Amino acid sequence: QKAEWAKLVNEPTVSKDGHHVELAANIGTPNDVKGVLENGGEAVGLYRTEFLYMGRDQLPTEDEQFDAYKTVLERMEGKPVVVRTLDIGGDKELPYLNLPKEMNPFLGFRAIRLCLEEQDIFRTQLRALLRASSFGNLKIMFPMIATVTEFREAKAILLEEKEKLVANGTKVSDSIEIGIMVEIPSTAVMADTFAKEVDFFSIGTNDLIQYTMAADRMNERVSYLYQPYNPAILRLISMVIDAAHKEGKWAGMCGEMAGDPIAIPLLLGLGLDEFSMSATSILPARTQIKGLSKEQAQGIKETVLSMTTTEEVVAFVKETFNVQ
Ligand code: PEP
Ligand code: MG
Repeated sequence: QKAEWAKLVNEPTVSKDGHHVELAANIGTPNDVKGVLENGGEAVGLYRTEFLYMGRDQLPTEDEQFDAYKTVLERMEGKPVVVRTLDIGGDKELPYLNLPKEMNPFLGFRAIRLCLEEQDIFRTQLRALLRASSFGNLKIMFPMIATVTEFREAKAILLEEKEKLVANGTKVSDSIEIGIMVEIPSTAVMADTFAKEVDFFSIGTNDLIQYTMAADRMNERVSYLYQPYNPAILRLISMVIDAAHKEGKWAGMCGEMAGDPIAIPLLLGLGLDEFSMSATSILPARTQIKGLSKEQAQGIKETVLSMTTTEEVVAFVKETFNVQ
Protein backbone atom coordinates (compact mmCIF):
# COMPACT_ATOMS: atom_id res chain seq x y z
CA GLN A 1 0.00 0.00 0.00
CA LYS A 2 2.84 2.37 0.88
CA ALA A 3 4.39 1.86 -2.57
CA GLU A 4 1.06 2.67 -4.17
CA TRP A 5 0.75 5.87 -2.15
CA ALA A 6 4.31 6.89 -3.05
CA LYS A 7 3.42 6.96 -6.74
CA LEU A 8 0.95 9.73 -6.01
CA VAL A 9 3.42 12.15 -4.36
CA ASN A 10 3.64 14.43 -7.39
CA GLU A 11 0.12 13.85 -8.69
CA PRO A 12 -2.70 16.35 -8.36
CA THR A 13 -5.73 15.23 -6.34
CA VAL A 14 -8.46 14.45 -8.83
CA SER A 15 -11.67 12.50 -8.30
CA LYS A 16 -12.62 9.61 -10.57
CA ASP A 17 -14.84 11.98 -12.56
CA GLY A 18 -12.15 14.62 -13.00
CA HIS A 19 -12.72 17.18 -10.22
CA HIS A 20 -9.65 18.66 -8.53
CA VAL A 21 -9.45 19.39 -4.82
CA GLU A 22 -6.41 20.63 -2.93
CA LEU A 23 -4.79 18.48 -0.26
CA ALA A 24 -2.85 20.62 2.18
CA ALA A 25 -1.04 20.02 5.44
CA ASN A 26 -1.23 21.39 8.96
CA ILE A 27 2.17 22.40 10.34
CA GLY A 28 3.54 23.87 13.56
CA THR A 29 7.16 24.74 12.67
CA PRO A 30 9.33 25.40 9.60
CA ASN A 31 10.89 21.94 10.05
CA ASP A 32 7.52 20.35 9.30
CA VAL A 33 7.66 21.53 5.67
CA LYS A 34 9.96 18.64 4.68
CA GLY A 35 7.26 16.13 5.65
CA VAL A 36 4.63 18.12 3.75
CA LEU A 37 6.59 17.94 0.50
CA GLU A 38 7.60 14.29 0.98
CA ASN A 39 3.95 13.41 1.42
CA GLY A 40 2.83 15.32 -1.65
CA GLY A 41 1.18 18.29 0.07
CA GLU A 42 -0.13 20.84 -2.43
CA ALA A 43 -0.15 23.60 0.17
CA VAL A 44 0.11 24.42 3.84
CA GLY A 45 -3.51 24.86 4.88
CA LEU A 46 -2.78 25.75 8.49
CA TYR A 47 0.47 26.97 10.00
CA ARG A 48 -0.21 27.10 13.73
CA THR A 49 2.08 29.94 14.82
CA GLU A 50 1.52 29.35 18.55
CA PHE A 51 4.64 27.18 18.78
CA LEU A 52 6.80 30.24 18.08
CA TYR A 53 5.44 31.73 21.29
CA MET A 54 5.41 28.63 23.48
CA GLY A 55 8.14 26.94 25.52
CA ARG A 56 10.03 30.17 26.22
CA ASP A 57 9.86 33.05 28.67
CA GLN A 58 9.20 36.03 26.44
CA LEU A 59 7.50 36.96 23.19
CA PRO A 60 9.33 36.13 19.95
CA THR A 61 10.74 39.23 18.24
CA GLU A 62 9.54 40.45 14.86
CA ASP A 63 12.78 39.25 13.25
CA GLU A 64 12.53 35.78 14.76
CA GLN A 65 9.03 35.49 13.39
CA PHE A 66 10.02 36.92 10.01
CA ASP A 67 12.72 34.23 9.71
CA ALA A 68 10.28 31.44 10.50
CA TYR A 69 7.59 32.67 8.07
CA LYS A 70 10.10 33.36 5.30
CA THR A 71 11.61 29.89 5.73
CA VAL A 72 8.22 28.20 5.39
CA LEU A 73 7.27 30.30 2.35
CA GLU A 74 10.60 29.65 0.62
CA ARG A 75 10.60 25.93 1.35
CA MET A 76 7.07 25.65 -0.09
CA GLU A 77 8.38 27.12 -3.37
CA GLY A 78 5.40 29.24 -4.31
CA LYS A 79 2.73 26.80 -3.14
CA PRO A 80 0.05 28.41 -0.96
CA VAL A 81 0.80 28.83 2.76
CA VAL A 82 -2.04 29.76 5.09
CA VAL A 83 -0.57 31.26 8.24
CA ARG A 84 -2.91 31.57 11.19
CA THR A 85 -2.27 34.49 13.49
CA LEU A 86 -1.72 33.79 17.17
CA ASP A 87 -4.34 31.46 18.69
CA ILE A 88 -3.24 31.44 22.30
CA GLY A 89 -5.58 30.80 25.22
CA GLY A 90 -7.99 27.94 25.74
CA ASP A 91 -5.77 24.91 26.16
CA LYS A 92 -2.63 26.79 25.05
CA GLU A 93 -1.23 29.08 27.72
CA LEU A 94 1.61 31.60 27.66
CA PRO A 95 2.73 31.99 31.29
CA TYR A 96 4.78 35.11 30.57
CA LEU A 97 1.68 37.08 29.52
CA ASN A 98 0.40 36.81 33.11
CA LEU A 99 -3.22 36.60 32.08
CA PRO A 100 -5.78 36.17 34.84
CA LYS A 101 -7.18 32.67 35.36
CA GLU A 102 -10.55 32.19 33.75
CA MET A 103 -13.52 29.99 34.64
CA ASN A 104 -14.02 28.92 31.01
CA PRO A 105 -10.78 29.40 29.10
CA PHE A 106 -12.29 28.00 25.89
CA LEU A 107 -14.96 30.70 26.06
CA GLY A 108 -12.59 33.36 27.23
CA PHE A 109 -9.87 35.77 26.29
CA ARG A 110 -8.08 33.91 23.51
CA ALA A 111 -6.89 34.13 19.91
CA ILE A 112 -8.22 37.15 17.99
CA ARG A 113 -9.85 38.50 21.17
CA LEU A 114 -6.46 38.78 22.81
CA CYS A 115 -4.81 40.08 19.64
CA LEU A 116 -7.32 42.92 19.18
CA GLU A 117 -6.74 43.97 22.78
CA GLU A 118 -2.98 43.43 23.03
CA GLN A 119 -2.26 45.11 19.75
CA ASP A 120 1.52 45.29 20.15
CA ILE A 121 1.66 41.50 20.03
CA PHE A 122 -0.67 41.39 17.03
CA ARG A 123 1.01 44.17 15.05
CA THR A 124 4.45 42.63 15.57
CA GLN A 125 3.24 39.35 14.12
CA LEU A 126 1.49 41.06 11.21
CA ARG A 127 4.60 43.05 10.32
CA ALA A 128 6.68 39.88 10.33
CA LEU A 129 4.14 38.22 8.04
CA LEU A 130 3.90 41.17 5.67
CA ARG A 131 7.69 41.39 5.38
CA ALA A 132 7.84 37.67 4.62
CA SER A 133 5.01 37.85 2.07
CA SER A 134 7.23 38.59 -0.91
CA PHE A 135 9.06 35.26 -0.48
CA GLY A 136 6.15 33.03 -1.47
CA ASN A 137 2.39 32.62 -1.67
CA LEU A 138 1.16 33.85 1.72
CA LYS A 139 -2.44 33.82 2.91
CA ILE A 140 -3.26 35.22 6.36
CA MET A 141 -6.01 33.72 8.51
CA PHE A 142 -7.55 35.00 11.73
CA PRO A 143 -8.62 32.43 14.38
CA MET A 144 -11.74 32.37 16.56
CA ILE A 145 -13.64 35.03 14.66
CA ALA A 146 -17.13 35.38 16.14
CA THR A 147 -18.37 38.59 14.50
CA VAL A 148 -17.87 40.50 11.27
CA THR A 149 -16.74 43.46 13.38
CA GLU A 150 -13.80 41.46 14.72
CA PHE A 151 -12.81 40.55 11.18
CA ARG A 152 -13.03 44.16 10.02
CA GLU A 153 -10.91 45.34 12.96
CA ALA A 154 -8.26 42.68 12.38
CA LYS A 155 -8.15 43.41 8.66
CA ALA A 156 -7.91 47.17 9.25
CA ILE A 157 -4.93 46.68 11.55
CA LEU A 158 -3.28 44.45 8.94
CA LEU A 159 -3.81 47.06 6.23
CA GLU A 160 -2.46 49.81 8.50
CA GLU A 161 0.74 47.87 9.12
CA LYS A 162 1.01 47.15 5.42
CA GLU A 163 0.72 50.82 4.52
CA LYS A 164 3.40 51.76 7.03
CA LEU A 165 5.78 49.15 5.68
CA VAL A 166 5.16 50.14 2.08
CA ALA A 167 5.70 53.81 2.96
CA ASN A 168 9.09 52.79 4.37
CA GLY A 169 10.03 51.09 1.15
CA THR A 170 9.59 47.50 2.36
CA LYS A 171 8.51 45.03 -0.29
CA VAL A 172 5.09 43.56 0.52
CA SER A 173 3.09 41.23 -1.69
CA ASP A 174 0.00 42.74 -3.24
CA SER A 175 -1.87 39.45 -3.52
CA ILE A 176 -2.13 38.25 0.08
CA GLU A 177 -5.52 36.63 0.62
CA ILE A 178 -7.12 37.37 4.00
CA GLY A 179 -9.41 34.74 5.46
CA ILE A 180 -10.87 33.42 8.66
CA MET A 181 -11.25 30.21 10.60
CA VAL A 182 -14.88 29.20 10.86
CA GLU A 183 -14.87 27.52 14.24
CA ILE A 184 -17.56 29.41 16.16
CA PRO A 185 -21.21 28.64 15.34
CA SER A 186 -22.18 32.33 15.02
CA THR A 187 -19.70 32.65 12.18
CA ALA A 188 -20.94 29.53 10.42
CA VAL A 189 -24.50 30.85 10.66
CA MET A 190 -23.43 34.24 9.28
CA ALA A 191 -21.18 32.75 6.59
CA ASP A 192 -23.17 34.42 3.79
CA THR A 193 -22.38 37.82 5.28
CA PHE A 194 -18.72 37.01 5.98
CA ALA A 195 -18.29 35.65 2.45
CA LYS A 196 -18.77 39.13 1.02
CA GLU A 197 -15.74 40.41 2.97
CA VAL A 198 -13.25 37.57 3.38
CA ASP A 199 -11.14 35.94 0.67
CA PHE A 200 -11.57 32.42 2.05
CA PHE A 201 -12.87 30.27 4.86
CA SER A 202 -11.12 27.44 6.65
CA ILE A 203 -13.49 25.40 8.76
CA GLY A 204 -11.96 24.50 12.12
CA THR A 205 -14.02 21.50 13.06
CA ASN A 206 -12.02 20.73 16.21
CA ASP A 207 -13.51 23.80 17.82
CA LEU A 208 -16.68 24.07 15.72
CA ILE A 209 -17.83 20.68 17.00
CA GLN A 210 -17.05 21.52 20.61
CA TYR A 211 -18.87 24.85 20.48
CA THR A 212 -21.86 23.57 18.51
CA MET A 213 -22.42 20.54 20.72
CA ALA A 214 -21.35 22.36 23.93
CA ALA A 215 -18.98 19.46 24.61
CA ASP A 216 -15.40 20.20 25.71
CA ARG A 217 -13.04 18.61 23.17
CA MET A 218 -10.75 17.48 26.02
CA ASN A 219 -13.40 16.04 28.36
CA GLU A 220 -13.73 12.24 28.15
CA ARG A 221 -17.05 12.19 29.95
CA VAL A 222 -18.80 14.19 27.25
CA SER A 223 -16.82 12.79 24.33
CA TYR A 224 -19.93 10.88 23.21
CA LEU A 225 -21.33 14.28 22.21
CA TYR A 226 -18.26 15.23 20.22
CA GLN A 227 -19.82 14.10 16.95
CA PRO A 228 -18.26 15.19 13.64
CA TYR A 229 -21.04 13.41 11.75
CA ASN A 230 -23.93 14.85 13.64
CA PRO A 231 -26.23 16.33 10.97
CA ALA A 232 -26.07 19.65 12.85
CA ILE A 233 -22.34 19.84 12.13
CA LEU A 234 -22.76 18.69 8.53
CA ARG A 235 -25.44 21.30 7.90
CA LEU A 236 -23.18 24.04 9.26
CA ILE A 237 -20.31 22.85 7.08
CA SER A 238 -22.58 22.76 4.06
CA MET A 239 -23.84 26.29 4.73
CA VAL A 240 -20.31 27.62 4.99
CA ILE A 241 -19.19 26.01 1.73
CA ASP A 242 -22.29 27.17 -0.17
CA ALA A 243 -21.92 30.70 1.20
CA ALA A 244 -18.29 30.87 0.06
CA HIS A 245 -19.10 29.62 -3.42
CA LYS A 246 -21.97 32.01 -3.84
CA GLU A 247 -19.46 34.87 -3.52
CA GLY A 248 -16.81 33.17 -5.64
CA LYS A 249 -14.61 32.41 -2.63
CA TRP A 250 -13.01 29.10 -1.63
CA ALA A 251 -13.69 27.02 1.45
CA GLY A 252 -11.23 24.70 3.14
CA MET A 253 -11.14 22.69 6.32
CA CYS A 254 -8.22 22.38 8.73
CA GLY A 255 -9.80 20.45 11.60
CA GLU A 256 -9.01 16.76 12.13
CA MET A 257 -12.15 15.83 10.25
CA ALA A 258 -10.60 16.88 6.90
CA GLY A 259 -8.33 13.82 6.87
CA ASP A 260 -10.89 11.29 8.10
CA PRO A 261 -11.78 8.60 5.53
CA ILE A 262 -15.45 8.72 6.56
CA ALA A 263 -15.61 12.50 6.24
CA ILE A 264 -13.81 12.72 2.90
CA PRO A 265 -16.67 11.46 0.66
CA LEU A 266 -19.11 13.71 2.53
CA LEU A 267 -16.88 16.78 2.24
CA LEU A 268 -16.22 16.11 -1.43
CA GLY A 269 -19.97 15.97 -1.98
CA LEU A 270 -20.54 19.18 -0.02
CA GLY A 271 -18.07 20.89 -2.35
CA LEU A 272 -15.09 21.49 -0.06
CA ASP A 273 -12.21 22.98 -2.08
CA GLU A 274 -9.25 22.40 0.21
CA PHE A 275 -8.60 19.66 2.79
CA SER A 276 -5.85 20.40 5.31
CA MET A 277 -4.63 17.52 7.46
CA SER A 278 -1.55 16.02 9.06
CA ALA A 279 1.05 15.36 6.36
CA THR A 280 0.92 11.59 6.80
CA SER A 281 -2.79 11.54 5.91
CA ILE A 282 -2.32 13.22 2.52
CA LEU A 283 -1.41 10.22 0.36
CA PRO A 284 -4.10 7.94 1.82
CA ALA A 285 -6.62 10.76 1.24
CA ARG A 286 -5.43 11.28 -2.34
CA THR A 287 -5.77 7.55 -3.01
CA GLN A 288 -9.29 7.58 -1.61
CA ILE A 289 -10.38 10.65 -3.60
CA LYS A 290 -9.05 9.20 -6.85
CA GLY A 291 -11.51 6.35 -6.34
CA LEU A 292 -14.50 8.57 -5.58
CA SER A 293 -16.98 10.15 -7.98
CA LYS A 294 -17.74 13.73 -6.96
CA GLU A 295 -21.03 13.53 -8.78
CA GLN A 296 -22.06 10.51 -6.73
CA ALA A 297 -20.91 12.23 -3.53
CA GLN A 298 -22.96 15.32 -4.44
CA GLY A 299 -25.93 13.11 -5.13
CA ILE A 300 -26.22 12.00 -1.50
CA LYS A 301 -25.92 15.51 -0.01
CA GLU A 302 -29.63 16.10 0.64
CA THR A 303 -30.12 12.57 1.97
CA VAL A 304 -27.33 12.95 4.52
CA LEU A 305 -28.28 16.48 5.58
CA SER A 306 -31.80 15.29 6.37
CA MET A 307 -30.66 12.35 8.51
CA THR A 308 -31.33 12.31 12.24
CA THR A 309 -28.31 10.82 14.02
CA THR A 310 -24.58 10.54 13.69
CA GLU A 311 -24.84 6.71 13.64
CA GLU A 312 -27.18 6.86 10.69
CA VAL A 313 -24.77 9.07 8.74
CA VAL A 314 -21.74 6.91 9.50
CA ALA A 315 -23.48 3.67 8.55
CA PHE A 316 -24.73 5.20 5.30
CA VAL A 317 -21.32 6.58 4.29
CA LYS A 318 -19.54 3.31 5.07
CA GLU A 319 -22.00 1.37 2.98
CA THR A 320 -22.25 3.81 0.06
CA PHE A 321 -18.55 4.54 -0.33
CA ASN A 322 -17.13 1.28 0.91
CA VAL A 323 -15.16 2.89 3.77
CA GLN A 324 -13.96 0.82 6.72
C1 PEP B 1 -9.78 23.75 14.80
O1 PEP B 1 -10.30 24.30 15.76
O2 PEP B 1 -10.38 22.91 14.08
C2 PEP B 1 -8.38 24.01 14.45
C3 PEP B 1 -7.85 23.55 13.34
O3 PEP B 1 -7.65 24.75 15.31
P1 PEP B 1 -6.98 24.19 16.65
O4 PEP B 1 -7.07 22.69 16.63
O5 PEP B 1 -5.58 24.70 16.63
O6 PEP B 1 -7.85 24.82 17.69
MG1 MG C 1 -9.41 25.99 16.77
